[in-house]
Amino acid sequence: MHIGIDIDGVIANTFHLLVHELNAYFGVNHALEDIGDYDIYKVYGVAPEELKQFSLSKENILISGPGIIPGADFYLKLLVNTYEVSLISARPEKYFRLTEKWMEKYNIPYHRLILWGQHDKREVCVHLGVNLFVEDSLKNAIQLNACNIPVILFNAPYNQGNLPEKIWRCHSWPEIHQTIDQVAGLKK
Ligand SMILES: [Mg+2]
Repeated sequence: MHIGIDIDGVIANTFHLLVHELNAYFGVNHALEDIGDYDIYKVYGVAPEELKQFSLSKENILISGPGIIPGADFYLKLLVNTYEVSLISARPEKYFRLTEKWMEKYNIPYHRLILWGQHDKREVCVHLGVNLFVEDSLKNAIQLNACNIPVILFNAPYNQGNLPEKIWRCHSWPEIHQTIDQVAGLKK
């Protein structure tokens, strides 16, 4: 079985850092828990030009600086022994080396690292023959599911809502691991 796994919000605790940096930059005090939309920037209500400036000045920090989601390293080590594991992120390709270094820093193993550069991951997943995807964006999850790829949605304040069949909400890495094994069992 071939598992695709997202990076930001699934392995890297990026949104925690993003909210912290946005708060400092724009002088406000939002909490991640209060942000109900995947497009976190909407909550800040600032002009696109200001956001562009923010992104340009903070992108390196947001790639290199996040902590790890608890358990991601431990369970990735188990997964790569049993399954084929591709990390597939919407990050731009230019951050490949920084992303690789971050993975080394946290001892994250994988078989393939793809920085796809866009949020729609359907084409690359179908091309690689991904059988199951772990994602934190509800929009991505629904898109992939429509291509017959079951999805594990890592629970977050910004991905709430009802889920169709074959998208399972998980709240932790132990639960993700258990669900992957269950799906693999069904596929045998
Ligand atoms: Mg993500």
